[in-house]
Amino acid sequence: MKKFDFEDLEICPEIKTFKVFQVSKMPDLFLEVEFKYPKTPAWKGCIPILEKYQGLDKTQLPKEDVVEYVKNCYNDLDPRNSKTWNADEDLYWSGRSKADMAKLLFDVLNGETQYHQTNWMCRQCTDTSSVNSQAASRIRALKQTHGYHIATKDFKCEVCGKYTTHDLLIRIPKLVGNSNKRFSIPTSLMRRIKELFEYTDACFNEKYGAGSKNLVVDHKFPSTRWVVGENPNFASMTDDEIKSKFQLLTQQTNLQKERYCAKCLQTGKRGDFFGIDWYSEGDCSWKGDNKSDEKGCVGCPWYDLADWKEKFNKMLKEIGY
Ligand SMILES: [Zn+2]
Ligand SMILES: [Zn+2]
Repeated sequence: MKKFDFEDLEICPEIKTFKVFQVSKMPDLFLEVEFKYPKTPAWKGCIPILEKYQGLDKTQLPKEDVVEYVKNCYNDLDPRNSKTWNADEDLYWSGRSKADMAKLLFDVLNGETQYHQTNWMCRQCTDTSSVNSQAASRIRALKQTHGYHIATKDFKCEVCGKYTTHDLLIRIPKLVGNSNKRFSIPTSLMRRIKELFEYTDACFNEKYGAGSKNLVVDHKFPSTRWVVGENPNFASMTDDEIKSKFQLLTQQTNLQKERYCAKCLQTGKRGDFFGIDWYSEGDCSWKGDNKSDEKGCVGCPWYDLADWKEKFNKMLKEIGY
């Protein structure tokens, strides 16, 4: 295999890289690393370099960029982040069916050592085999549908002594490939959307600079409810099409919305606007025909903040304010 210039580096005493390996029968590449954190034995794991179906590819980047990426992974994988990681993943899965077999496998792979880190799991002697016999296809689902980073490698297991397949869940931010569900928004369209909304966050009506990284283009209809995926976003979309599909949020308000939507999917109770128990259509209970019925979201403040506020003010006027 090709030799990469980011292999076998000591980036700092805490961060070392070794060799790149390929997952068998897959194009995916992972870089073996050793990460040291305070009061914890070194983590001997790996990080993704190429995940074809998730759209991650670091193979063409200059060395400095990969080094930067390795450092970011080092920070993400800090065991002190394990609480946050687990809380976020609990929330993520709480919106999904309990019968999802991928979840059972996720729980096994997400199992922690006493140092709050994940470890290589042997398919023969850990619960990955007892959870289901179709580990390979479910790992694919965890990667491609849910966006987890999971490395797979064959080596001699220290526990059962056999030469077996091992899997490692790498706790860096999830990434779902564009080909899967969500179409990326072309840069030119992204620029147009932000311009159309005058760089103004729909939640606090705060205006940002054109180059601000804080503004996020949000799909009004939350992706957690998508079943068939979205229609592609063309640069030729009209202003009306843009306004009906998207709104502009900040990183912070977008995160807030995601939490409301995950909770709504789980409980059927729609989000409120900072405690204001009013809906421009319907009430606090989500009433769609099925999980992915967009009509169930109409009237919820988080579905369309600008529209909700306009209607809220209109209602106030009508009752004499
Ligand atoms: Zn093992
Ligand atoms: Zn084993």
